[in-house]
Amino acid sequence: MSQSTVLYMTSSIMLTSVVAFIWLERTYPYRKGLPFLREGIWSDFFWYSVVQNFVLQIVIFDYLIHPIDIHFNLSRLHLVSAWPVACQVLFFLFLHDFYIYWFHRWQHNSKILWKTHEAHHSARAVDWIAGSRSHALEILINQTIEFLPIVALGADPMVVPIKACFDGVWGMYIHSNIDVRSGKLQYFINGPEMHQWHHADEQEVFFANYSTKFAIWDWLFGTAYLPKTKPTKYGLPYAYPDDYFLQTLAIVKKVDEQKLLRFKFFKSYHGLGTKFLQLFKGPQAVTARKQEEPAAPVQRSRAAHEKNLPE
Ligand SMILES: [Zn+2]
Ligand SMILES: [Zn+2]
Repeated sequence: MSQSTVLYMTSSIMLTSVVAFIWLERTYPYRKGLPFLREGIWSDFFWYSVVQNFVLQIVIFDYLIHPIDIHFNLSRLHLVSAWPVACQVLFFLFLHDFYIYWFHRWQHNSKILWKTHEAHHSARAVDWIAGSRSHALEILINQTIEFLPIVALGADPMVVPIKACFDGVWGMYIHSNIDVRSGKLQYFINGPEMHQWHHADEQEVFFANYSTKFAIWDWLFGTAYLPKTKPTKYGLPYAYPDDYFLQTLAIVKKVDEQKLLRFKFFKSYHGLGTKFLQLFKGPQAVTARKQEEPAAPVQRSRAAHEKNLPE
């Protein structure tokens, strides 16, 4: 199979999955009443999924992985090239998932690393596209560690797009607002039942449900949390900016978004998200919905929240 056929197939699978998840969310919602055009969708779609994704793919593959591979020249050894492509994909899928469980756990347990992960937890609406909200540095670290071994061990060139397709579809699935009841399968395959809880603003899950693709890590290492109830609050328990650039900057400096909104330029740029929603829903619908939506939950201060984190 040629490289272009694989790219065509993986892109088709991604697009079909998007349509399927959106339809399933409308038909079997986990959290009822969450609109498709919900708060933050402009930033998750345009800034995170399109712009950040495009820029980071160039940085990661052309400016990190490629030069590292040229320097060490490990790929010429073709260490996994002789394996069937399916075995290569499965091997890298498990290897990376095991790594991401521990790195994710570390992010929740370290004050410094938490800064790379709090943007991901700032989503107050968790649905098929909410997983794209990940800080650029988090993506840079995780995807370099994910794809560098694939290139360096001399895997088949098809493994990168196939693996990226698995990541995309599985990422949409675990975040999707679908009322999945997978029974005993939830011990192995991770899904929204556990990951929706991971995004809840509830103390008991702040240190639980770190798995991405295989839930088995949470069950094996004692971090699984799967009650029969559903979460009632999502997002961070302290104030955090809504804007993409302020979220990216928040890793070094938290800027008061409300103060910036006094500047005309920032206000008109900030209003782009609302204009985007108005394109589809009409101005009255967006204004009415904004009034209905509760304000961001700020139950605890940031300092009080961080007291739960070890030094
Ligand atoms: Zn997390
Ligand atoms: Zn998530």
